Amino acid sequence: VNSEGRKAKTVLLASPRGFCAGVDRAIQIVEESVKKYGAPVYVRHEIVHNKHVVTRLEALGAIFVEELDECPDDRPVVFSAHGVPKSVPKAAAAREMNFLDATCPLVSKVHVEAERHHSNGKHILLIGHEGHPEVIGTMGQLAPGEITLIETEDDAHNYQPVDPDNLALVTQTTLSVDDTANLIEILQSRFPTLALPYKEDICYATTNRQAAVKAIAAECDLLLVIGSQTSSNSKRLVEVGQNIGADEAYLISSAESIDWDKVDSADTIGLSAGASAPEYLMDGVIAALRSRYEVSLREVEVTKEQVVFRLPRQLLPAAGTAA
Ligand code: SF4
Repeated sequence: VNSEGRKAKTVLLASPRGFCAGVDRAIQIVEESVKKYGAPVYVRHEIVHNKHVVTRLEALGAIFVEELDECPDDRPVVFSAHGVPKSVPKAAAAREMNFLDATCPLVSKVHVEAERHHSNGKHILLIGHEGHPEVIGTMGQLAPGEITLIETEDDAHNYQPVDPDNLALVTQTTLSVDDTANLIEILQSRFPTLALPYKEDICYATTNRQAAVKAIAAECDLLLVIGSQTSSNSKRLVEVGQNIGADEAYLISSAESIDWDKVDSADTIGLSAGASAPEYLMDGVIAALRSRYEVSLREVEVTKEQVVFRLPRQLLPAAGTAA
């Protein structure tokens, strides 16, 4: 407690945190589409899993829907960063819609892998969470039955393939690095010829954010992760924090959802944010902490990120100007 009676708190800020290149690109696709085509622009599914992002884009002129059927033929529609089953662009093309695909290129890479394995005659195992839009999108790259979802250790132990020597593995991009390694180990011990991704399917952003949380978690009495309940990578950050030894870890959507009793009893507070959480929410959390406590802030950076993805051709500055 300092001379003004304010408690001292150590705040450890995990870095990298927050927006990744795929989220940045997806948001820009909506913004640029509204600029280029005017409002409204339809977006199939939350462009990224964050309501603050969605609300801001709605104010700019985006209309969010769950299915393509809810969009008119004559307005542009953007597909979310999580990716879509093949049937979706196909239906949009059949209706001659102007569609823009904001699928993260690292999700598209997994789609291409799955197709390549399939054309080589392999059955595909997908490690992921049932019902997540990315899983629905990846499974929808091939006909029903061509991909089997493996969610748990039990699934990995119990799966009975038709041809155990002809299997390939892909994964969701936003999984726990450690849990996935464990599932892969089980599958590999059962199926030694299982074809693995050439390079990890879990994306750089997920890996780096988990590594940054690991670097601070053991020191933290409390870890707060900014992110939505629907955000897979944000939830994994909370789990990583819990596994590594933060006494307590939970998701907050913004400074407004902080449980101040918990903060009050913690000396060291760790902060991180999922890949779909804007940095201004982190600024708000730090400001709220500073308004109540004497904060000593330390940023712990495990790596620098320099990944940037290009916008789709339709939205590049030169596109369309010739006509
Ligand atoms: Fe792409 Fe990874 Fe970001 Fe998802 S979390 S949008 S896969 S970079």
